[in-house]
Amino acid sequence: MNEFRHQMLYDTWVIIAPNRAKRPAFSPGSPPPAAINDPFIHGQEQRTPPEIYAVRENPRITASWLTRVFANRFPLLKLEAPLKRAKRGFYSIIGGFGAHEMVIDHPKATTHLCHFDQKNLRALYQSFRDRIEALSKDGRIAHIHAFKNQGMKAGNTIPHSHSQIVALPFIPPATERIIDASRRHYNHHERCLVCDMLESEEADQSRILYRNRHFLVFAPFAPRFEFEVWIVPLSHESHFEQLSSDALGDLAEASEWILGRLALALEDPDLNLTLVSAPPKRPHPKPNYFHHLEHFFHWHVAIVPRFEARDGFELSSGCYINPTPPEEYAHFLRELPAPPEKG
Ligand SMILES: [Zn+2]
Repeated sequence: MNEFRHQMLYDTWVIIAPNRAKRPAFSPGSPPPAAINDPFIHGQEQRTPPEIYAVRENPRITASWLTRVFANRFPLLKLEAPLKRAKRGFYSIIGGFGAHEMVIDHPKATTHLCHFDQKNLRALYQSFRDRIEALSKDGRIAHIHAFKNQGMKAGNTIPHSHSQIVALPFIPPATERIIDASRRHYNHHERCLVCDMLESEEADQSRILYRNRHFLVFAPFAPRFEFEVWIVPLSHESHFEQLSSDALGDLAEASEWILGRLALALEDPDLNLTLVSAPPKRPHPKPNYFHHLEHFFHWHVAIVPRFEARDGFELSSGCYINPTPPEEYAHFLRELPAPPEKG
């Protein structure tokens, strides 16, 4: 059974997951799955684990889905696993409690995220929103990650297009850092850090890529990776699961704009799309930990193309090296011609 082990020196948690090694292999250059062998296409719904959630064009037609969600067959974490911190000798562990869901996000196996149309992007974000909302109701869950790994360099291991949702029984260190930085800024300035970033980006303009009614797409001032872009709601919003249906459409539109440009500029790059949203508010061992969370946390979507492995300096220092200034690639992406129409 999987378990979390506390890495005391780095103060982080590692999931020891022996069952992940038993997953079917998918190596670079493997052919796309033949339709007959692919359990994730229209008409094969009975071959997957039980459906938890779906977005369908016609609710009465099973095989009209745009997305389907079910438990991962090789889960990192399970809701049935024990949720208790225990000692093992000198060290601390937590049983592999949590949830790990698979979001089949396109009926066609090999569609690259950069070529999703707005309908599919909207269905993907709607699935993230509704599953996060549902999982948040379980008081044992402390934080929920929704993400997509596109391509081998981004960590993808299953050939059919899919995204994932992982719910954790604690707030992981990367999210704690965002909470702490946002809270510090709020305590000093009584303002949200990301709202201030948006204001600064709009004044400067050099890193802005696209804007619609609800969202600003820009290259962050200090991107960790070349061509990293963020999609950020223009009005302050802390929890992605509260997104309106109207804004979902605008998020799909903004995503289609930037993904189309990345496809053109970088020839369908491997990439990660991650949602960075506030955890559900719960009692927390640290006093006032969540006080004003909804005022200081501002969610965003990060899209990060992946070109190569990271080096030892980055691993040991936690600092990133980026050879391309964001102002340069923002200019390059803005000046690209519109990508060809889909269809
Ligand atoms: Zn804000």
